Amino acid sequence: MQWQTSTRNTEYDILSFGPSRSDEVAQTWNSGLVQINLTGRFFNNAGGAQFRLPDGTTITFDNDQTAQAFVLLHELAHQTHVILSEGLEGVAAKQQEGFNNQFILDNCFDNREYHK
Ligand SMILES: [Zn+2]
Repeated sequence: MQWQTSTRNTEYDILSFGPSRSDEVAQTWNSGLVQINLTGRFFNNAGGAQFRLPDGTTITFDNDQTAQAFVLLHELAHQTHVILSEGLEGVAAKQQEGFNNQFILDNCFDNREYHK
């Protein structure tokens, strides 16, 4: 499968996205580059971090490690094109990421690990 070769040489960078993007956790630029925001919620209070769902509500995970696992699975799903890309901007992007988050929840987590 194509995604197997595209993920083989993936680089994970940890860097600051800058003050204007401090609310962002991570991004996948292409199948070979994933960036984690050093000053974002992945490393800072991830357990209290909220993630948007398509209906406008948010979820909160019970602990930091579960939230971090959620983020990494979300980025892996972008890499393998299981969910749509982060290429959109503004309201449309937030809506799309809500659907992406819901997909990861439905397929990788159960109700004991997060709450609305
Ligand atoms: Zn995303």
